[in-house]
Amino acid sequence: MPDPNGFLRYDRRLPARRPVPVRISDWREVYPPAGEELIREQATRCMDCGIPFCHDGCPLGNRIPDWNDLVRTGNWDAAVDSLHATNNFPEFTGRLCPAPCEAACVLGLGGQQPVTIKQVEVEIADAAVARDGLRPRPASVSTGRSVAVVGSGPAGLAAAQQLARAGHTVTVYERDDAIGGLLRYGIPDFKLEKQHIDKRLAQLTAEGVRFRTGVEVGVDVTAEQLRAEHDAVLLACGALQGRDTPETPGRALRGVHQAMAHLVAANRVVAAAGDGKPAPATLPDGTPIDAAGKHVVIIGGGDTAADCLGVAHRQGAAGVHQLDLYPEPPAERDAARDPWPTWPWVLRNYPAHEEGGERVFAVAVQEFVDDGTGQVRAVRIAEVTVEKVDGRRIVTALTGSEREIPADLVLLAIGFEGTEEQPLLAQFGVTRNGRGAIDSGPDWQATDGVFVAGDMHRGASLIVWAIAEGRAAAAAIHTYLGGVGDLPAPVDPARQPLAAR
Ligand SMILES: Cc1cc2nc3c(=O)[nH]c(=O)nc-3n(C[C@H](O)[C@H](O)[C@H](O)COP(=O)(O)OP(=O)(O)OC[C@H]3O[C@@H](n4cnc5c(N)ncnc54)[C@H](O)[C@@H]3O)c2cc1C
Ligand code: SF4
Repeated sequence: MPDPNGFLRYDRRLPARRPVPVRISDWREVYPPAGEELIREQATRCMDCGIPFCHDGCPLGNRIPDWNDLVRTGNWDAAVDSLHATNNFPEFTGRLCPAPCEAACVLGLGGQQPVTIKQVEVEIADAAVARDGLRPRPASVSTGRSVAVVGSGPAGLAAAQQLARAGHTVTVYERDDAIGGLLRYGIPDFKLEKQHIDKRLAQLTAEGVRFRTGVEVGVDVTAEQLRAEHDAVLLACGALQGRDTPETPGRALRGVHQAMAHLVAANRVVAAAGDGKPAPATLPDGTPIDAAGKHVVIIGGGDTAADCLGVAHRQGAAGVHQLDLYPEPPAERDAARDPWPTWPWVLRNYPAHEEGGERVFAVAVQEFVDDGTGQVRAVRIAEVTVEKVDGRRIVTALTGSEREIPADLVLLAIGFEGTEEQPLLAQFGVTRNGRGAIDSGPDWQATDGVFVAGDMHRGASLIVWAIAEGRAAAAAIHTYLGGVGDLPAPVDPARQPLAAR
């Protein structure tokens, strides 16, 4: 029986982050392990409210009160099993999820701080590794059916694991030289050290999943070949088409880049150093892209922008400005706008923000300013107001508010416009919708025998949604292949986050 008064006895506490001067001198994760005493105390704050809204907040339907109580009582093996029953990769979500479950925690109703659900999750996930090193669970019987998964991000990997465990032969095709999707070369090591991906890959390999890296489907192998070799295909190619701003004067200057160009180059440097092969940060064509000694301007206010900020600090930037189009959000939930248990619009301070840099809200870039040689030397910004008229965003610059910010390196982190236009789409006979995503029917099929999941289906989203969609698409493929019994399907293709309207 959970402790109904735990939240009255203990305040919400997270482990202390590593000190800023120490952590910006390396690429290791910001958070050290919490330790058993702290995490059991924090799990005790879950009061087993009876109707746990955290379940609905979590797209995976993680059984949060169950594993909170198992941790509270020190029953770690059962907690590991309970968590893995709904989540293939809790070591990813426990580190990276923004935790919509915590926004929906019933403690929030009474003005209390929510349970540290995500922290409990990551501690359980790490306990699983420490206990049995992620023991493989291969299928006992093969179905003789074969599935191709295109794309090795969390959606593709979750689907691959579910299908392999159900007895299907699964091959994952990935155009990059390493498996993991955005987890590998998008998200920096200070948020997710890559050893966590490698440990899962060892488990998937032992469960029979085959990986083919450096293979771009649509170019190196055709859709026709894939259809001929496999009984079903899952497309999980992500939503990697970066939004740009071609109309802004000076966009073509040297030093103005997409954020992903910066992040991928930096991640490759860290990976190469780990392999004992130090290399400079460059674009694929060899052009250097490094923040060392530079005035950096990051345009955008989300995860990608915060990741660029943390990378710029670690590379030794001379200074960093982060520009946001929107006004500074409130520190607390505005219950009239975003009532509990929905996800609130509040100021989100990432660890990278406490490492330095200046955030500037309610501004828009008017021009990237040339130093006379074709290299950017500043951005000219104006204060702006933003309104929505008939669903369209209208940005109005305030007269006389313009000023320049020095910039040697400008990074565009202004969002994604859906999945990339690439040969694979036409070959499979699918087209991007108005949001750049690929639609599916209620059974996740985009076209006959071809399924779609993750960001490619939903648009740029979150890891937890990618895993949930990968699991659900795997369940649909299992049914399509005539598999025995049902696999878990936490979401349907139309499912949206909790919303008040
Ligand atoms: C910088 C950044 C930081 C983020 N931080 C967070 C975070 O902290 N928390 C969070 O929850 N979410 C975060 N996200 C979002 C999260 O990473 C994505 O929602 C998630 O990775 C989507 O998973 P996916 O499997 O659908 O696609 P992806 O992870 O994008 O993987 C798609 C894969 O498909 C491959 N591919 C594409 N086309 C082909 C082809 N033709 N042949 C073979 N392979 C192909 C790509 O190379 C890629 O590896 C972040 C996103 C970015 C960009
Ligand atoms: S995956 Fe995200 S939403 Fe689900 S329990 Fe973990 S932190 Fe919460």
